[in-house]
Amino acid sequence: MTLPVADAAGLVLAVDAMAAEPVPPFDNTATDGFAVQAADTVGAPLALQMIGTVAAGAAFDGELGPGQAVRIMTGAPMPLGADAVVMVERTTLDEAAASVEIEIEVPVGNHVRTAGEDVQPGDLLFPAGTQLTAGHLGVLASVGLQAVDVVRRPRIGVVSTGDELVDDGRALEPGEIRDSNRRTLLTLVAEAGWEAVDLGIAVDEKAAIEASFIEGAASCDAVLSSGGVSMGAFDYVKVVLDEIGDMRWMQIAIKPAKPFAFGLIDGTPMFGLPGNPVSSMVSFELLAKPALRKMAGEAEFGPRVLRATSADSLGHSADGKTHFLRVEGQQDSYGCWTVRRAGGQGSHQLTAMARADALAVVPDGAVVEPGDEVDIIILR
Ligand code: AMP
Ligand code: MG
Repeated sequence: MTLPVADAAGLVLAVDAMAAEPVPPFDNTATDGFAVQAADTVGAPLALQMIGTVAAGAAFDGELGPGQAVRIMTGAPMPLGADAVVMVERTTLDEAAASVEIEIEVPVGNHVRTAGEDVQPGDLLFPAGTQLTAGHLGVLASVGLQAVDVVRRPRIGVVSTGDELVDDGRALEPGEIRDSNRRTLLTLVAEAGWEAVDLGIAVDEKAAIEASFIEGAASCDAVLSSGGVSMGAFDYVKVVLDEIGDMRWMQIAIKPAKPFAFGLIDGTPMFGLPGNPVSSMVSFELLAKPALRKMAGEAEFGPRVLRATSADSLGHSADGKTHFLRVEGQQDSYGCWTVRRAGGQGSHQLTAMARADALAVVPDGAVVEPGDEVDIIILR
């Protein structure tokens, strides 16, 4: 899909972006000062004849000869015949006498930015699969590209399942809770640069879940549901996926986010995330997001794993699972991370997840004492 560069933020290049123009487009000065012939500055301090001024956006009309200087502003093209610039701070202009005192000797090329120093015509700027950020779009603008070929922004549907869910702010009846997963998942989708489609709440009935899955599969590129994938009597997500799609249900040896379902309905991927609020976010980060990033065309789609020092004790007794603990982190001036627990680690305790900068990866039965190193997955 071809889009104006102005509309491409967050999208992924479908083809390599190539440069058709050099950057900078011409030799120019990196500083305000005087364009000279470097050989003329040998023996400075000395005076040179000032023969004109050139501003950014203009071009010097004429050619600079030996013994001459042209006053020049940052970004202005180098006058013909000049090969160096003396910064204004090292000069004194005598405008009446049309002469400038040069205080220092400078080498050829001093403060000159040469044409094509950053980008040459024909350069590969960014390969297909690059997600376009502010810097990338700036580079595309700098080579005069008006439009880019990008992968279409995926539409990701989000549905919550559960009889207990309320989303309109009214007083809760006994047994009811407020739907938080839809808000977090819709926001995670939007933060990733995708179009988030709110599919609402489906009650714990086969027909309701089936109807929302069919609607989601028909109108979206992928669907995320939360809840209804555990072993409960009313967990219908797997049943529905099995009936109307090609379902793969699994239990993953991780905590939180053990239950997970995946299926295809008419080719549309469906991710059945667990209902507990922390579990649904962790499941999104570890399982759904990498798949969606790949689908969105990104060449690198795995989580960002770094090494950190733990300030807290993070271990757990062996239970056959890898634990992902919610941790807050700080980076020192060398970029090294130190992490500590972000709060209560229950899979229903969303505040710790909201505060967390990362998930600490603690292998089964591992003992992480304060001062020990641990892998972390960066969340933002
Ligand atoms: P389930 O996976 O449906 O068995 O749900 C597991 C737990 O997560 C239960 O305590 C649910 O009430 C809770 N839960 C399910 N969906 C949501 C949601 N959308 N927002 C907040 N909590 C939820
Ligand atoms: Mg449920």
